[in-house]
Amino acid sequence: MIDRIPERPSAAAVRGTLVHAVLERLFDLPAAERTPEAARGLLEPQWERLAAEEPQLSVLFEEGAEESLEEWLDRARGMVDRYFALEDPRRLEPAERELFVETVLPSGLKLRGYVDRVDVAPTGELRIVDYKTGSAPRADFEARALFQMKFYALVLWRVRGRVPNLLQLMYLGNSEVLRYVPDEADLRATERKVEALWQAIRRATETGDWRPRPGRLCDWCDHKERCPEFGGTPPPLPEGRPDAGEPRVVPAARDVSADL
Ligand code: SF4
Repeated sequence: MIDRIPERPSAAAVRGTLVHAVLERLFDLPAAERTPEAARGLLEPQWERLAAEEPQLSVLFEEGAEESLEEWLDRARGMVDRYFALEDPRRLEPAERELFVETVLPSGLKLRGYVDRVDVAPTGELRIVDYKTGSAPRADFEARALFQMKFYALVLWRVRGRVPNLLQLMYLGNSEVLRYVPDEADLRATERKVEALWQAIRRATETGDWRPRPGRLCDWCDHKERCPEFGGTPPPLPEGRPDAGEPRVVPAARDVSADL
């Protein structure tokens, strides 16, 4: 992220973007028209829009690609269908979709991100919803999955002065929902963790000591050949270090475990 080395587009990540776009646009339709057929009908136009905005995505379906465009779209259709197994969008009126949130902590650290959906009950309760195009994590990885949601809850709490009542992760890979009720103590702990992570980033920036953290994502990492963990040499650190400007933390990209 600091080196800003470009990454190849990934079919799974772009499919995640597509499914998110479809679920966002679905709520533009009048409630009664939010059917599985209507959602499937949004897939191709949304894909065409994405492809027009980012012509480099055409490399995903070049000769020798793992999936054809039709197979790729079919998997996206399956995710959209699984969404309907989890809730009925005809009975929902989200307060916000793709909401940009930003706050500055008392330390001066700026937090920002995009929340997939915010629902507000007539009685004022706040629910944060995030769609994941993968499968639900095993119980021992749930805390990591929830960290990103607590991050959003912390920002919304700071912005709106109310602790969100429910955090809801919807896994469209296997039709499961993970729900969590946060409290103030949780969000204060999240704030301390984010601050500690920022301090760790600053220390690494000052010392130049960036340690690889190998894990299961290494198999999909575009930077493996430059990674010391695999015998590579990283490029020299760029000019303009992250602590030169305003400090800022954003959550990890969607559909990748939050791992700040
Ligand atoms: S190969 Fe693994 S440890 Fe190295 S940069 Fe990529 S994800 Fe990190």
